[in-house]
Parts: sequence; structure tokens; C-alpha cells
Amino acid sequence: MVKPGKLIVFSAPSGAGKSTLKDALMSRFPSLRYSVSATTRKPRPGEQEGVHYFFRNQDEFRSMIDRQELVEHMQVHGNYYGTPRTPILKALQEGHSVILDLDVYGKVNFDKAFPDALGILIVPPSLEELERRLVARKSDDEETIRVRLQNATRELEFATREGKYEYTVVNDNFHYALEELTRILEREIGETAQVRPQAQDKR
Ligand code: ADP
Ligand code: 5GP
Repeated sequence: MVKPGKLIVFSAPSGAGKSTLKDALMSRFPSLRYSVSATTRKPRPGEQEGVHYFFRNQDEFRSMIDRQELVEHMQVHGNYYGTPRTPILKALQEGHSVILDLDVYGKVNFDKAFPDALGILIVPPSLEELERRLVARKSDDEETIRVRLQNATRELEFATREGKYEYTVVNDNFHYALEELTRILEREIGETAQVRPQAQDKR
């Protein structure tokens, strides 16, 4: 019998550094799989279909809901995001642990289907720093950044009050945060990280 994998949900306000940390962790734990979400958001430069997201229009997204293909879905910052069910189940059956990227409200719904999922909340050191990162990322216009910052405080309050997060990691110094997350994953999935020289980490 293959040892079943774990579900590990990462949540963070937009710009906190979750994707960058997740990418670095995926290269340290080759057995991990990433759950690619579906979204109606337009791709950012460099984002690839099926790698970063399944990019769908509103009608296509609605059909996925109707066919009950999504574990959960949520409107976040004006776009729809949802978690396809089949790839997660397949990866778990094959013994892989799976990282998911869910907003704090989606995590609550996800827990109804998978109550044992582990929650990791990534927080920025301050809202000022969050704004600096969103601006520096150069992927969103001013209005989008304004909405994301406005939502950040609400999301963090909600996560603290109602979320189920076993770990909270402050992403101030990137390499410290990455080390902390590496130790957490080693403990939780029972594997040793394959740590390459720091220069090869994506940041
Ligand atoms: P998220 O996925 O949470 O929206 P990203 O991973 O895209 O955030 O990170 C947002 C921006 O902040 C990126 O330009 C990234 O390189 C940068 N970043 C991530 N972590 C740190 C950090 N610890 N210090 C400074 N900048 C960071
Ligand atoms: P972004 O547009 O920056 O990639 O993601 C915006 C927000 O949507 C982030 O908070 C991210 O965690 C969340 N998100 C991404 N995929 C999903 C998903 O499948 N479900 C839910 N509920 N939120 C998601």
C-alpha cells in the first residue's frame, strides 16, 4: 500500500510572497505536487496555462461548477478561483503530498471537504512592505493593487479569527521564511529537503 500524501494549504494576502516561497519549496521537495487552480483572471506575463492556473472564461468556469468539478470556488478580488478535485485525488492516491494555494475564505470551504488539510498562513512583516512588494512585482495596475491592499487587512483578521492554520510564518527575510517552511514540511511530510545552494533558489 502506498503511504497517502498530505494536503498542505498555503494562504496569504496577495503580495506576501506565497508563490515565490511555494516555488522554492517545490524544488526542495521533488515529490510534492501543486494543485493548479482554475481562474477567470487574465494571465500575467509569464504565466502558463496548466502550470500557474487553468485560465477560463466566466461560462467555462460556471460549467466546471455545474459539473461539480471543483472542491471549492470563491470570488477573490473580483475574479473567480476554484480548486479542481480530480488532480488532487489522483496525486494523493499515488502517495504525493499536495500544496494548494487558497484564499483565507476558500480554505474554510476546503476544510469541509478535507478537514485534515494542514493550513499554513504566510504573512507580510507590515502592510507598507506588502504594498512595496505588490508595486515591485509590476504585475498589477494601481487600482488592482489598491483593492488587494484593502482586502489584505480583512483577510488577515478573518484568518486569525476563523481560519484553521496550524502554522503562521512571517515572510520578512525570504531565506529565513524559506528555512522555517522547509523544517515544517520535513516534519509534516516526513521527507528530507534537497537543499541546493541558495543562489539557485528562485529569488
Ligand atoms: P504572492 O504569491 O503571495 O502574491 P509573490 O510570491 O508573487 O506573492 O511575491 C510578491 C513580490 O514580492 C515578488 O516580486 C517577490 O519576488 C517579492 N518577495 C517575496 N518574498 C519577499 C521577501 N521576503 N522580501 C522581499 N520581497 C519578497
Ligand atoms: P492571484 O490572482 O494573485 O494569483 O491570486 C489571488 C488570490 O486567489 C490569492 O489569495 C490566492 O490564494 C487565491 N486563490 C488562488 N487559487 C485559488 C483557489 O483555487 N481557490 C481559492 N478560494 N482561492 C484561490
